[in-house]
Amino acid sequence: MIDLHAHSTASDGTLRPAELVAAGAAAGLRVLAVTDHDTTSGWTEAADALPPGLDLVRGAELSCRWSGTSPPVPLHLLAYLFDPAEPELAAALARVRAAREVRGERIVELLRADGHPISWPEVLADAAGGTVGRPHIARALIRAGLVETTAEAFDARWLGSRYRSPKVDIDVFTAVRLVRRAGGVPVFAHPRATRRGRVVPDSLIVELAAVGLAGLEADHEDHSPAERAHVRALAAELGLLVTGSSDFHGAHKTVALGAFTTAPEAYDRLVAQASGVTPVLSG
Ligand code: AMP
Ligand code: ZN
Ligand code: FE
Ligand code: FE
Repeated sequence: MIDLHAHSTASDGTLRPAELVAAGAAAGLRVLAVTDHDTTSGWTEAADALPPGLDLVRGAELSCRWSGTSPPVPLHLLAYLFDPAEPELAAALARVRAAREVRGERIVELLRADGHPISWPEVLADAAGGTVGRPHIARALIRAGLVETTAEAFDARWLGSRYRSPKVDIDVFTAVRLVRRAGGVPVFAHPRATRRGRVVPDSLIVELAAVGLAGLEADHEDHSPAERAHVRALAAELGLLVTGSSDFHGAHKTVALGAFTTAPEAYDRLVAQASGVTPVLSG
């Protein structure tokens, strides 16, 4: 089984990178991609802890925006096997991480203004040096007894609508070019996840394919069967590869490692396009 999308404590997952690769092997995976939000900081620990039988794909999930409509639509771009030292891409990732801190603190201020006992230092401490995200604020809401689950924290009364603030994301065309320049392979994450909010039109995916987008994530828990079929058909039309992945976040989500998987042929096509770093092969 090949699972190409998972988060560790380097962003908003709850397993350390070493624990994540161990869990991947225990789940029966042959390949696991570590794709933390806007960071490569989990790569070394994951590679050093790689258990027998599991190959590691080093990746990241980039916070992007499409400005073709107002306000811009936020979207996620998975980037695989890129050179983490490519200066422009590294700088873009550092800027988004900084923007996440500005946005997170603002959301906490909005909550505090309504008298909710959440503090920014507490949220930052929970992120423990990893990329801070709304799931860390969700966890503070749970600790304060204001909600019971992460899913509830994301409903409209809380982070879903009432306490919202945009962050400054990377322009998606720039992101695709930077990932390719760094030898990486860009794949559009959950492109049809309507339950998370607005999605982009197919015409944007056509344009992105023309500037270097390599694939589309079709099989994902946030896609309905009809949305998965639509994404597959679009990928076939544009000659893009298709992936399926769990988007595992540990205890922040209910989905299990390997819940959705990528076909070996698609994985081989992906690796063949990469020139930044290689997969780390199990010993
Ligand atoms: P951020 O990147 O800080 O905007 O937070 C987005 C992250 O929050 C996503 O990557 C998911 O991990 C998580 N998330 C978004 N919506 C939900 C939801 N409805 N329930 C649980 N987690 C969610
Ligand atoms: Zn996440
Ligand atoms: Fe995502
Ligand atoms: Fe993700």
